[in-house]
Amino acid sequence: MSDAIPFLDLASAALELKRELDDAFQRVAYSGRYILGPEVEAFESEFADYCGARRCVGVGNGLDALHCILRACEIGAGDEVIVPANTYIATWLAVSWAGATPVPVEPSKVTYNLDPALVESAVTSKTRAIIAVHLYGQAADMEPIMEIAGKYDLKLIEDAAQAHGARYRGRRVGAIGHAAGFSFYPGKNLGAFGDGGAVVTNDSALADRVRILRNYGSRVKYYNQVRGVNSRLDSLHAALLRVKLKYLDRWNDRRARVAARYLDGLKGLPGLVLPYVSDWAEPVWHLFVIRHPWRERLQAHLARAGIATLIHYPVPPHLSEAYTGGKTGDLPVTEELADTVLSLPMGPHLREESVARVIEEIKRFVAV
Ligand SMILES: *Cc1c(COP(=O)(O)O)cnc(C)c1O
Repeated sequence: MSDAIPFLDLASAALELKRELDDAFQRVAYSGRYILGPEVEAFESEFADYCGARRCVGVGNGLDALHCILRACEIGAGDEVIVPANTYIATWLAVSWAGATPVPVEPSKVTYNLDPALVESAVTSKTRAIIAVHLYGQAADMEPIMEIAGKYDLKLIEDAAQAHGARYRGRRVGAIGHAAGFSFYPGKNLGAFGDGGAVVTNDSALADRVRILRNYGSRVKYYNQVRGVNSRLDSLHAALLRVKLKYLDRWNDRRARVAARYLDGLKGLPGLVLPYVSDWAEPVWHLFVIRHPWRERLQAHLARAGIATLIHYPVPPHLSEAYTGGKTGDLPVTEELADTVLSLPMGPHLREESVARVIEEIKRFVAV
């Protein structure tokens, strides 16, 4: 059998940039400065520029980024936050940790992102914010959601954890809503060598509040203004991320070429649903997600051929043990997606011949 095809090849990514990453490591390791400091400040300013936003505050992970945004907006107990039903559970957990209640809204059956037509009916007198997730690397349809946020005076928060560099109507995500949370978990399009995250915003007052929250609630060491958290982006990760940020657009382009090959090679196959790209979207293909009614059998077939796939996500948040009270049938579109989605190998280091093999194997499966 030919070589196994991994879902995502992180070691090759590190090796491609070895020289520059080694330099960055040495710079920090022997500086004696490991928490916050100049590397974090430099990364914050470079990532804000990249997103086209005024401010960026580095934090410990993507969940904390969203959680700190909510707390900085003084959203908490008694408040409701509209979230996509179809998302990674972190979006919901950020709301719960802030003390507020996540109110799920079903996705569009076509884009899998928040369906703007369903958002308004979820607004109540307790709603304070909407979190739009740019799932799988494609922007949510922000304009109609922004209109609803404006009409009811709600904060619009972007969960951009899967969408570094993605564009909506020509604008980069992260600077469209009131504030955005990013994750630098290793498998994300811009990934650190451990956990990391950032808040991006044009609102300087909000950025200042997040800066205080992430560092024990203090602006001046040992003088604590609020009950903050310890969630800082490490200096080492900031230095390594500064190297990888320079390659983000190129690596996203490589992902787009893989996606184009998949879209072309897999089109028209019976039973198979391919990702839909809205004409206003420029996705960054964090994941390439297909759907098939016999998803389990297809996954097993690919596994036998040495092709790794994953399911994002098998259990929707409302049916997870973490959220009691939800039952099967409550959110049918989300549940159907959970039962049929399959993520194919995707990444800037996926080889052309591997993409061809994945396509061939899927064709063989569909033929029988
Ligand atoms: C990864 C992810 C998060 C959380 O990021 P962490 O850095 O793992 O905490 C939040 N939302 C979405 C949509 C994600 O994919």
